[in-house]
Amino acid sequence: MKSLGSIRRSFAPWNDPEAKPYISFERVTKRFGDFTAVNDLSLDIYEREFFALLGASGCGKSTLLRMLAGFEEPTSGRILLEGQDLRGIPPYRRPVNMMFQSYALFPHMTVEANIAFGLKQDGMSKADIASRVAEMLKLVKLEQFAKRKPHQLSGGQRQRVALARSVAKRPKVLLLDEPLGALDKKLREETQFELMDLQQELGLTFVVVTHDQEEAMTMADRIAIMDKGQVMQVATPAEVYEAPSSRFVADFVGNVNMLEGTVAERSDNAATITGASGARIRVENAGEATEGSSVAFAIRPEKIKVSSKPPADGATNVMEGEIWDLAYLGDMTVYHVKLSDGQVVKASALNSARTMDDPLSWHDRAWISFAPDAGVVLTR
Ligand code: ATP
Repeated sequence: MKSLGSIRRSFAPWNDPEAKPYISFERVTKRFGDFTAVNDLSLDIYEREFFALLGASGCGKSTLLRMLAGFEEPTSGRILLEGQDLRGIPPYRRPVNMMFQSYALFPHMTVEANIAFGLKQDGMSKADIASRVAEMLKLVKLEQFAKRKPHQLSGGQRQRVALARSVAKRPKVLLLDEPLGALDKKLREETQFELMDLQQELGLTFVVVTHDQEEAMTMADRIAIMDKGQVMQVATPAEVYEAPSSRFVADFVGNVNMLEGTVAERSDNAATITGASGARIRVENAGEATEGSSVAFAIRPEKIKVSSKPPADGATNVMEGEIWDLAYLGDMTVYHVKLSDGQVVKASALNSARTMDDPLSWHDRAWISFAPDAGVVLTR
């Protein structure tokens, strides 16, 4: 496997004002009876992007994918591909293919016949089919399994057959609905990297639906976080994690402490936030939060330092509490620290040394501290 680092690092067409989106959802709404599954949603996806739709069950992500594939039509709004309105174009005429979670392989056909199926239907010549199938088998490393039937394969191999079949017709866009949902955790992790390699090698645009945030964070160039038929934020994995735009996104992705408070003072970008108990939090960048407004200060557990003694002078945002709970996870320890106002804050520390020089245990006094730029101020 090769590292995609250098390619990925420079790929960011969404930051280029000249770049045209490849796929555009323009104010798309989808209703089933009086239920609104997708609500006035707009979204741009760029060519060669690995794009993930992430959200809880029922938020409308599959419906969005199905409309792009042509299995459903929007109730209102438009979906454009390379500037062309897709309305009325049947699924088989769209340069889009969909891979389902169930894989939908034909059980009575061999691996190669499964891969060849769509090509045959398209009337491709025998010789061309044979060479395309061979190319696909090589791509997914299943050359020696060509003559097997799906039930003679492992789950991961079946997944690769489904993948080979869905890219055999060389679609421009591949839609994947929970592509790794049927695999166990370890195989999922390996397959995530295979999928990324394959997408890069083929130069395709991938749109993946998943409810697994780690999967989205690992694979995608950008993630759209969805809730109730709407997009809450579209950003790179790092931005979604480090700079969530709302309480919903902060809470949805990863672990977070959410400290509610009021902006007591603002000067330039910095601000002081007062919590319910009077605790004061100094932040370096308060964004658009205005003085007097109610906000949440969101901070990830790994950005909070815990110690058994008060931190040295000069430390900012120091609060005293008690170790309320503690979980040793091997690679790290998660502390739940109960502050004087009763709020419990989670802080995690990497166990990089085999012995801990500052052992903290249940009901010990503890101090937490964090830098003024360690969290974000959320107004929504
Ligand atoms: P999951 O992860 O569970 O698949 P999802 O985010 O993909 O969820 P969708 O399948 O897009 O969700 O469904 C969104 C909502 O629309 C759900 O509440 C679902 O019940 C509803 N829905 C989807 N298809 C139909 C349909 N054909 N008729 C009626 N309601 C539908």
